[in-house]
Amino acid sequence: MDYVTHSYDASVPAPVSQTLFDRAAVVTPGGVNSPVRAFRAVGGTPRFMVSGAGPYLTDADGHEYVDLVCSWGPMILGHAHPQVTEAVQTAVARGTSFGTPGEGEVALAEEIVARVTPVEQVRLVSSGTEATMSAIRLARGFTGRAKVIKFAGCYHGHVDALLAAAGSGVATFALPDTPGVTGAQTGDTIVLPYNDLDAVRHAFARHSGEIACVITEAAPGNMGVVPPRPGFNAGLKSLCAESGALYISDEVMTGFRVSRAGWYGIDGVEPDLMTFGKVMGGGFPAAAFGGRADVMAHLAPVGPVYQAGTLSGNPVATAAGLAQLRLLDDAAYARVDAVSAEVQGLVTDALAKEGVAHRLQTAGNMFSVFFTDEDVTDFAKARAQQAYRFTAFFHAMLDRGVYLPPSAFESWFVSTAHDSSAIERIAAALPAAARAAAEASA
Ligand SMILES: *Cc1c(COP(=O)(O)O)cnc(C)c1O
Repeated sequence: MDYVTHSYDASVPAPVSQTLFDRAAVVTPGGVNSPVRAFRAVGGTPRFMVSGAGPYLTDADGHEYVDLVCSWGPMILGHAHPQVTEAVQTAVARGTSFGTPGEGEVALAEEIVARVTPVEQVRLVSSGTEATMSAIRLARGFTGRAKVIKFAGCYHGHVDALLAAAGSGVATFALPDTPGVTGAQTGDTIVLPYNDLDAVRHAFARHSGEIACVITEAAPGNMGVVPPRPGFNAGLKSLCAESGALYISDEVMTGFRVSRAGWYGIDGVEPDLMTFGKVMGGGFPAAAFGGRADVMAHLAPVGPVYQAGTLSGNPVATAAGLAQLRLLDDAAYARVDAVSAEVQGLVTDALAKEGVAHRLQTAGNMFSVFFTDEDVTDFAKARAQQAYRFTAFFHAMLDRGVYLPPSAFESWFVSTAHDSSAIERIAAALPAAARAAAEASA
């Protein structure tokens, strides 16, 4: 998502990346295949990466970075983990796609069902977008109702009906966020402020018997990290249960990242349907939706709700995902949590030392920094931060070999591979970045 465009004069040149970016811009809109990669929010030249190893990325100019994006979450074991690489190589050698069922997809589904109690059955797809799109369709098919409640600042992929984030006030009918999405496509979407149970209660009262589902990020990481207030998810669940709507928890980002069972493993609120992606694909396109068996039974070929995919359950993607999940035991999560806590501490210390007002917010081992002196509980507060300070901070870190998400509205991610030397590099870059944030002006 793009919010603000800043111009920035890069102090460390990246001529090869710039040449590639210029070439890309000729044949691809904006030179990228996903908008945030273009660095529009922070300015400067997007770095074209050529390789990754453990916690490091190397760009086309030969610069090495400590990676705090981890491919937006999936690379929780670091890059090119030997056991994941081996599983992929073995799978590739056997053929890359059959268009038939295969054992790998059964094993991956079993792993997901074993980890996440509310998921009795799961259907594999290829992206988080497909997972949420299909979950919404299933919820509508199951309930026979049309309306969907979502929250401002929550991102569920580029599903037409869910690309509506604007709309202040209570129970605002959503206007499309982007041209190409019609009013008809978002007309049944109700966008509410995050963390506001009263708004949800009000919407259920006003649209009694019409709401198919509430979809929410289990713990939002797409407006920066804005955790649910205690009781928020449980409140959603009970409002849904009272009115016969389904509670859909989007765990594409949090799933298998913040614990063995994702955010469900932390808050224990049982969704009717859940969506997964990112970590479960091990760096390949694999995603899923699943939940109550009686709801999933409405899917084709058992039930009437159609859903399909040529590459769904792809043997290479499922091999990568399964290899990664099998390595993610309690010790691995403890390691990711510890790395995260250490980096968080270094970041707040550096910013505090320079007197930079900020909030470091967490959801398990996901975290992000808001340049503000107020707790951020919703999208409006997230947008009120001094994002220009992030721009200065981001570039100072980049110049010193630390790759942060190129937007103030994204979570940072660490991996089991972030060892003490990677953390030392982060620590070494922080004082100058904190100073740059302190000195930045709008
Ligand atoms: C990334 C993300 C998606 C979309 O997944 P894609 O694989 O990019 O389509 C959906 N929901 C959440 C919460 C996400 O973080």
